[in-house]
Amino acid sequence: MSDIKTTGPEPLGANDSKWLGSYKQVHMNVFGTPLRVMDHGEGTHIWDVDGNRYLDFLGGIAVNALGYAHPKWVKAVADQAAKVAHTSNYFATEPQIELAAKLVKLAGAPEGSHVYFGNSGAEGNEAAIKLAKLYGRTLPGALPDIGGKPARILAMTHGFHGRTLGALSATWKPAVRKPFQPLVPAVEFVEAGNVHALQRAFNETGVGHYGKGPVAAVIMEMIQGEAGVVPIGADFVKAARELCDRHHALLIIDEVQTGIGRTGKWFAFQREDLSGGVVPDAITFAKGVAGGFPMGGLIAFGEKLSALFTPGSHGSTFAGNPLGAAAGLATLGVIEDEGLVENAEARGRQLRDGLAALDNPLFVSVRGRGLLDAVELAHPCAHAVADWALNHGLIVNAVAPNALRFAPPLIVSEQDVDECLSILAGVPADLPND
Ligand SMILES: *Cc1c(COP(=O)(O)O)cnc(C)c1O
Repeated sequence: MSDIKTTGPEPLGANDSKWLGSYKQVHMNVFGTPLRVMDHGEGTHIWDVDGNRYLDFLGGIAVNALGYAHPKWVKAVADQAAKVAHTSNYFATEPQIELAAKLVKLAGAPEGSHVYFGNSGAEGNEAAIKLAKLYGRTLPGALPDIGGKPARILAMTHGFHGRTLGALSATWKPAVRKPFQPLVPAVEFVEAGNVHALQRAFNETGVGHYGKGPVAAVIMEMIQGEAGVVPIGADFVKAARELCDRHHALLIIDEVQTGIGRTGKWFAFQREDLSGGVVPDAITFAKGVAGGFPMGGLIAFGEKLSALFTPGSHGSTFAGNPLGAAAGLATLGVIEDEGLVENAEARGRQLRDGLAALDNPLFVSVRGRGLLDAVELAHPCAHAVADWALNHGLIVNAVAPNALRFAPPLIVSEQDVDECLSILAGVPADLPND
């Protein structure tokens, strides 16, 4: 096993302290105080400004699919920067066109499917929500019928879709959503995993003065990442597909965290054990797609749905930016060439099996697929565990009071997983609760 350099008893070095002081003076405090100030990375490791090295099992929150400074990614971005970095959407570029075609293919989306590019996960979901609204207006009983009512969008309890106002409307966590109400109307929450609740929500549609508008769309994650890496359940997804079909509603799957090989398939809906083989009407993607370049978007499955967006319906200055598209093409290319989807499956299994076998009473149970995993802790001390791990050279994430999340780069090696496990084996089981 490789040598493990720890950051020693002092949690923060002099350079970290100095920069964090400056950070606070000029940044709005939406993220709290950053844990460290980072300097550079290579592969699965990143170094802070004091020269401390960390094994990264968070990967910039499931973003750094290729780890840090992958030579092919660096070259693709540098070459594209030297050619053309931005054009606006009055013009197109080759990388953008190739990336869209590649994403449609990897998603197994049918002939006639189309991509909209944005710059983040939230923007992918904003696009999906706008598309669902246009679709909803085509349903009988919905606006703009005489006496029509707004079509509804059903989202899941514990779901996360982003922080912009539209995406926030479908994001469940009351503490992050409620201060900004009123949000987008006619977005309702259904208990995740509860088929009867979903059925009831569909059945509230009524005619005349009675009942609500028709359901335009159901939006959900296959694994609720921010909720603590919780699969929503294949039976529920199948039931949702059937209800959507019966009521002519769209099934939108948010693959922002689960997509791009993360769960051991290109997209999580392609895992039978997560989706029951269901095919969605649209998926959104972001995080891993460009290996660290901000990019996201939406794939609408099929010609009819895609055609609802027409010139002026939606847009963004940076959408499909060639630098991001080149980063995306390099990322997808390396994932294919290096077999990283298969690696995600194998290393994820090693990680979960290893966590389950740890002789440490702190770790109670494991869950997840591929390299999106969590371990349940015996008591709510996730922040204390993550801090301890950080001080011992390992980055993991306190995703819930009693759960740690793992989303390492897809290039993670067998030795990396062993190193992560050996650090975690030493976590004191009696750390104080957060
Ligand atoms: C991270 C995330 C988002 C939001 O993505 P941003 O790039 O932060 O806007 C949306 N949905 C899911 C499932 C996510 O994990």
